[in-house]
Amino acid sequence: MYILLMGPPGAGKGTQAVQLVEKLGIPHISTGDMFRAAVKEGTELGKQAKACMDAGQLVPDAVTIGIVKERLTKADCKKGFILDGFPRTLDQANALDSTLKDLGISLTRVVNITVPAEDLISRITGRRICKNCGATYHVTFNPPAADSKCDKCSGELYQRADDSEATVANRLSVYAKQTEPLIEYYRTQGLYSEIDGRQEIGKVFTDIMNSLRGSAV
Ligand code: ADP
Ligand code: AMP
Repeated sequence: MYILLMGPPGAGKGTQAVQLVEKLGIPHISTGDMFRAAVKEGTELGKQAKACMDAGQLVPDAVTIGIVKERLTKADCKKGFILDGFPRTLDQANALDSTLKDLGISLTRVVNITVPAEDLISRITGRRICKNCGATYHVTFNPPAADSKCDKCSGELYQRADDSEATVANRLSVYAKQTEPLIEYYRTQGLYSEIDGRQEIGKVFTDIMNSLRGSAV
């Protein structure tokens, strides 16, 4: 299955992707995670990405398209993938179409997780991530059993630098201007499903699995 997970920042894409990976055994490809890994490694890509991420702006299309193209040609993508956070612009969507065409792949389903803007700020500012394994928590909606420690590996939890209140407003406005128009782009292709992301995490997952059920593998 070749799945595109869409939705505004904080909608729950990463949270759902972890469960989809477990259920479907296909890789999770998150451009945000790829950029954060590059920042951690201190590569040239990381330096360029960090400036954009800290400002809540998008990393330039040419850079982003390049890393996704390279990733999609890896052997583990042959059986399928869960693409999260890409495409975010119309140029990225066009580039994805042509890359998939070259690879002889077509998307199985585009799943858009919707959450109203007023809920996103608290979702994002309350997000905490495990330094060790990358698991995602929320201080109120999905707290770890022990304060500041990951349930899975006891790793320390941290807050992403761009999850500050100051940056969030910018990220949401970038989403509305540049990414939201892609909904129409995919709706007209007949592969589009909308899932209510305000529901509890388990119910969102059930709805996503149901939307995939009727799709060709
Ligand atoms: P995204 O990858 O779309 O930016 P995340 O999966 O990181 O979003 O989720 C953002 C925050 O909201 C996290 O702190 C997560 O624990 C929390 N969250 C995710 N899904 C839900 C949900 N259905 N209800 C409440 N909180 C949620
Ligand atoms: P995310 O983890 O998806 O919330 O992404 C974090 C940040 O990484 C974004 O605010 C952007 O700065 C950058 N980023 C992630 N994906 C893309 C993309 N497809 N295009 C441009 N920038 C991106």
